[in-house]
Amino acid sequence: PHPCPLAAYFPTPPPPPAAWDEPRPGITSGTEPGTQCGSGSGSLGRRPRRKWEVFPGRNRFYCGGRLMLAGHGGVFALTLLLILSTTILFFVFDCPYLARELTLAIPIIAAVLFFFVMSCLLQTSFTDPGILPRATVCEAAALEKQIDNTGSSTYRPPPRTREVMINGQMVRLKYCFTCKMFRPPRTSHCSVCDNCVERFDHHCPWVGNCVGRRNYRFFYAFILSLSFLTAFIFACVVTHLTLRAPPFHPTRVLDCPTVLELVICFFSIWSILGLSGFHTYLVASNLTTNEDIKGSWSSKRGGEASVNPYSHKSIITNCCAVLCGPLPPSLIDRRGFVQSDTVLPSPIRSDEPACGAKPDTTMVGGHP
Ligand SMILES: [Zn+2]
Ligand SMILES: [Zn+2]
Repeated sequence: PHPCPLAAYFPTPPPPPAAWDEPRPGITSGTEPGTQCGSGSGSLGRRPRRKWEVFPGRNRFYCGGRLMLAGHGGVFALTLLLILSTTILFFVFDCPYLARELTLAIPIIAAVLFFFVMSCLLQTSFTDPGILPRATVCEAAALEKQIDNTGSSTYRPPPRTREVMINGQMVRLKYCFTCKMFRPPRTSHCSVCDNCVERFDHHCPWVGNCVGRRNYRFFYAFILSLSFLTAFIFACVVTHLTLRAPPFHPTRVLDCPTVLELVICFFSIWSILGLSGFHTYLVASNLTTNEDIKGSWSSKRGGEASVNPYSHKSIITNCCAVLCGPLPPSLIDRRGFVQSDTVLPSPIRSDEPACGAKPDTTMVGGHP
C-alpha cells in the first residue's frame, strides 16, 4: 500500500518487465541509501539485457538502442515526407530552368540548406532530449521514508513539494508519482513519452520527440533553417512561374508540380516563420515553451513580482547559454546492461539532500 493518499489518484504503472521482476529481499522501509538491495542470483542463465529493452517510458528504440523516438512516429513520417517531396519536386521541375536561366548558385544553396535541415531534424528526433531515469526501488523507498519523517501531522499527507532558492527566487519542486522523485527545476513529465525530461520545452509530434535540454539547440536550428529553406523555395518557385517563357497559359501552369510546391510552401511558411520567431524570443529570454505557456515567471502571477531566475539578464548571454552551452551526457544509459541482482547506488549522499532529485552523477556512462 502506498503511504500517500494522493496515490489513489494516480494510476499504478504497469508491472515492469521481467528483468526488473527479480525478488529483492533486501528492500525494506529501513533500507539505507546506497545499500545494495537484494542478492538474488535470478539472472543466472539469462541473456544479458540492455537497459533500452526494459525502458519504462513509451519510447521506441532502434539499432540496438542507439536511436530513440517517441511512441507515435506517424506525424514525424509526415514531416519527412513533406520536406523530401517538396525538395525533390523543386530539384526536378524548377532547378534545371533556374540554373540555366539565372545562376548555378540556386541549386547549390538549396542543396546546402536541405542537408542542414535534414541533419538538424534527425538529430532532434533521435537524440535523448534529457530523460531522467526513474528512481530505483531503493531510491524510491529512501525518499518515501524521508517524506514520512518530515510529515508532522498524522491527519494530513506529508507534503509532496519542496522549495529551493534559485537566484533569489523560490522555485517549487513537485514530486513525480511515476518516476518516484522530486523533479529538478525546469523538469516536467511528458505525458506522451511518460518520462521526466530536463528543461522540458514541449513534446513535438512533428519531430517525433520531446524537446528538452539535450536537443533544444538542434530543434531551434531545424526550425530556423527550415524557414530559410521554405522561403527560398517559395521565392524560387514564384520566380520560375514569372520568368517562364511565353506563351504563358494558365492551363499549363495548373497541372505543373511547381504549383504543388507553391501551395505546400505557402501554407507552411507562416507557421514555420511564426514558430521561429517565438523560439527566438524564448532563446533570448532563456525561457521554455512550458514556462511561457504556464506563465511561470509572469509578473502578474500571485500578485507578487517574479522574474525568470534562469535569465542572465542579457540577450547575448542567454542565446549563448541556451544554444552553445555544454551538452550534458545522456543519463538513461540505454546501451548499458541491466544488473538484475544489484540496484544502482542511490545518489543521495547525505541524510538531508538538497532536493531529493537525482544529480547528474548517477547512471552516467556507456552512452554512445
Ligand atoms: Zn516523471
Ligand atoms: Zn514527449
